[in-house]
Amino acid sequence: MNPDYPTIIPRPDHTISRKWISPNAVRVLYRLKEGGYQAYLVGGGVRDLLLGREPKDFDIATDATPGEVKKLFRNCRLIGRRFRLAHVYYHNEIIEVATFRSQAVLDSGEAEVTQAPGPQAAAPAAEGGPAVAVPPRPRPPRMLKTEDGMILRDNVFGAPGEDAVRRDFTVNALFYNIADFSVIDYVGGVDDLRRGLIRIIGDPEVRFTEDPVRIIRAVRFAAMLGFAIEENTYRAMLALRNRVALASNARLYEETLKLFLLGEGEKTYQLLRKTGLFGVLFPRLNEWVDTEAEGFPHTRIGKALEWVDACVQAGRQPVTHVLFALVIGQYLEEGAAELQRTGTSSHDAIEQAVAGFLGEQAPRVLIPRKVGLGIRDILLNQHRFEKTEGKRPLSFLKRQGFEDAFEYFRFTSEATGEKRELRAWWKDFIKSHPRALEGKGEKQAAKPPPPAPAARRKRRRRRAGPAKRNPGTGPKN
Ligand code: ATP
Ligand code: MG
Repeated sequence: MNPDYPTIIPRPDHTISRKWISPNAVRVLYRLKEGGYQAYLVGGGVRDLLLGREPKDFDIATDATPGEVKKLFRNCRLIGRRFRLAHVYYHNEIIEVATFRSQAVLDSGEAEVTQAPGPQAAAPAAEGGPAVAVPPRPRPPRMLKTEDGMILRDNVFGAPGEDAVRRDFTVNALFYNIADFSVIDYVGGVDDLRRGLIRIIGDPEVRFTEDPVRIIRAVRFAAMLGFAIEENTYRAMLALRNRVALASNARLYEETLKLFLLGEGEKTYQLLRKTGLFGVLFPRLNEWVDTEAEGFPHTRIGKALEWVDACVQAGRQPVTHVLFALVIGQYLEEGAAELQRTGTSSHDAIEQAVAGFLGEQAPRVLIPRKVGLGIRDILLNQHRFEKTEGKRPLSFLKRQGFEDAFEYFRFTSEATGEKRELRAWWKDFIKSHPRALEGKGEKQAAKPPPPAPAARRKRRRRRAGPAKRNPGTGPKN
């Protein structure tokens, strides 16, 4: 691995074609090139195209500074303080353009060091008090890290090779050069794609300390691609897993959603459990998973994620509160039942169990209040499925939130084998009242239920095209 001497894979020897890249990304690449700048497709887009998968998004790296990118594109906005970059807006797509970063300041020990988790904000003047002269805020440092090496800000620009080695995993650090359509590999990423390996770039301990969220990302990519985690990378993940708790709770919430909505959530969950990361993200929930209920292990989370995987693979991604309700519903129901035993009403017990979960999670994974309210409503609505007499079923069917509640009801009934007749009754009832759901989420109502796990359709991620033409770049497993 030498940032001065990359391996260049010329166009005939790899599978990436411009026709697989989003036309907007191609437009941005060409505009940068014509502006006299280097312009590379980078990250997951290159990785996925080489694997014959459909990329989720297309990221671009360039030697143009964010300001220079802004000058080239009218439809551009600069975002991010921790990691400044440009967003180029098209009506249905945002193309992210980042300037090549350099690791040099970090390695030379010249990065500014702070003890605080972020740059100090200027103290506001006391409300209603006399106007005080506020000293000008000092220009924030471009590179900032904590005493033990966690990066808080990363805005030092550099050369392409420097940019490659400060990315997370070798398979995520490949560049596709629009100037000659070659793939540039500074880090052995093409070999790791062939071997099916997630390998952190550089010293694993240093790189995971710099940004502990990379530990979670390793799990995500391993599950998503069906890759193994390289030995040293894996060892460092285990050694440093508790540092994940140092990452911002908002960022960990975003990462958690990605983990569960990948379409491989069950696999991800097993890997999170095996590595002990599930306990770092969800400490109390993890303890509960380790206990048994009436002699049976708690297996509902895995089943819920299989259900979610089937939905995602059928192109029907559950909304966030439904996702969480499915995954943690049993935990909340047991908590609520416990509260009811001490005299709390069933309504209050559910409310308190959900609030308790959000509260205990807040230091690690910051679940928004709105999501909590959605989970609560799903659980509060469950008793309505018991009432099949008179006008009640129809009025429930017409209620906002019926579909979310029914998804949960169907899942718990299938997972436990209970209330089958009731489930069948509701299915018939819904079928015989097709108009009742109109006007409140027709789209959702019209969607077919997820297929049974056995008859699951494979997600259409794999494209026959490029993978066939160059099987050499595909993973082994
Ligand atoms: P996905 O398919 O989920 O979009 P991705 O690899 O594109 O996967 P992104 O989060 O979109 O992941 O990030 C784009 C690229 O930026 C990565 O491929 C990687 O090169 C780099 N990157 C992202 N996060 C980090 C990080 N925490 N540390 C180092 N490099 C990172
Ligand atoms: Mg991406």
